[in-house]
Amino acid sequence: MPNMSLVKTPMPEQEPNVRNKNFEEVSLGYTEEMAINEAKRCLNCKHMPCVSGCPVNVQIPKFIQLIAEGNFSAAAAAIKETSALPAVCGRVCPQETQCECKCVRGIKGEPVAIGRLERFAADWEMANGTNEVAPVESNGIKVAIIGAGPAGLTCAGDLAKLGYDVTIFEAFHKAGGVLVYGIPEFRLPKAIVQKEVDNLQKMGVKVMTNMVIGKVLSIDELFNDYGFKAVFVGSGAGLPSFMGIEGEGLVGVYSANEFLTRINLMKAYRDDYDTPIRKGNSVAVVGGGNVAMDAARSAKRLGAEHVYIIYRRSEAELPARQEEVHHAKEEGIEFLLLNNPVKINGDENGNVTSIECIKMELGEPDASGRRRPVAIEGSNYEVPVDTVIMSIGTSPNPLIRSTTEGLEANKWGCLVADDAMATTKEGVYAGGDAVTGAATVILAMGAGKTAAESMHKFLQEKFGK
Ligand code: FAD
Ligand code: SF4
Repeated sequence: MPNMSLVKTPMPEQEPNVRNKNFEEVSLGYTEEMAINEAKRCLNCKHMPCVSGCPVNVQIPKFIQLIAEGNFSAAAAAIKETSALPAVCGRVCPQETQCECKCVRGIKGEPVAIGRLERFAADWEMANGTNEVAPVESNGIKVAIIGAGPAGLTCAGDLAKLGYDVTIFEAFHKAGGVLVYGIPEFRLPKAIVQKEVDNLQKMGVKVMTNMVIGKVLSIDELFNDYGFKAVFVGSGAGLPSFMGIEGEGLVGVYSANEFLTRINLMKAYRDDYDTPIRKGNSVAVVGGGNVAMDAARSAKRLGAEHVYIIYRRSEAELPARQEEVHHAKEEGIEFLLLNNPVKINGDENGNVTSIECIKMELGEPDASGRRRPVAIEGSNYEVPVDTVIMSIGTSPNPLIRSTTEGLEANKWGCLVADDAMATTKEGVYAGGDAVTGAATVILAMGAGKTAAESMHKFLQEKFGK
């Protein structure tokens, strides 16, 4: 019997007032019964509009039908045909603007909970499946991947499946990119990312951490001295931007990247780690994206009484995922919308004491199509805070392009690559945030996939294997 409920089967979560004091996962996932119940809401549409909304073309009706039949292992296998990181995507993909916004059940009522079902199938497979990874015979051709984020991991996996001898060079001491240093444990448990990395290693992929390419080795050295025949650059966009306002050098001002890296990668929230972090009582987070929500919710969990999101547009323009905004509000994050910081004030010791904001109103749409925020003159006021976290965007680190001759970047510092992800230097491919600037996990994975196909074609033409 199909389930004609107009609303999604709810997913159990930790209570807001409990979870805002711990770093454990907020959403607890479907039980088998809940998953089957939700899967029965899918109409198995012949024209599959949901698939057209998925950047990696997951065969959505197929895997959902398999869940409805109780065949969870086959459902996970169906997702894995096109997606390398289903347990990750099921948790962090912006489904409401991708697959779910195309779902016909969303015309009258809520769409099918595709993300929750993807997460269920992937988690079920991790807990109950054999997780066997078939070893692949090597063709002996060495390929280097720079950066172990979703773009690099996807590219590495696809090339390893084709028989290449793949080595990932990662600057940090752990593989995973933003999935381990940016997105907090309460949204994406790190054990899940580690399992994906372990699977790659089982396939024969070598992961070399603490290897900053451009410092320890250059791309040219990888080609000339170490025998790599092609290189993929998936180095992300880890360079934070600041507003350029007075007071950004005060003690207690962080970039969101630094704040989150200390917490997630360096485990500053745990007593058994020595990583220092400021546990502010009143914290301002400037920005309205996923990164800002993660920083605000992390600051709350570190014990802050007041955490403010300061964003210059209105709620409708907030770029963060709806679910993150909803969760942040439930957890007590205060939203100062249509507000823009103009100055950070400090005391005689250089510590932050307040942030001065000006109120904004929305004018005509700008080049991005969103209504331009306009300052209301004379509306300045101060918010007393002891910590400020700047979360207004990031761009690619210039290290790789500045140490690699022939690699071109655009005016934003993003590497120039064509549709096949080929850069301006022969044998060097690039994708993910290194090319687009800060984007999404699924787009980074899609780029890693396309690059792997192009590299395979290039290497076949060059070496005939
Ligand atoms: P990254 O994940 O940044 O990985 C790049 C890797 O390259 C890093 O590990 C870095 O250490 C390494 N590296 C850099 N330079 C070098 C070098 N010179 N040598 C060797 N290694 C190097 N997207 C979503 O879809 N949903 C979300 O909910 C979401 N939330 C986010 C929350 C935060 C806090 C952040 C920061 C981003 C979020 N994103 C989200 C965006 C998403 O995580 C990124 O778009 C995605 O991770 C980009 O993947 P990537 O592989 O291109 O780069
Ligand atoms: Fe199922 Fe919705 Fe996709 Fe139709 S559009 S197949 S109902 S998930």
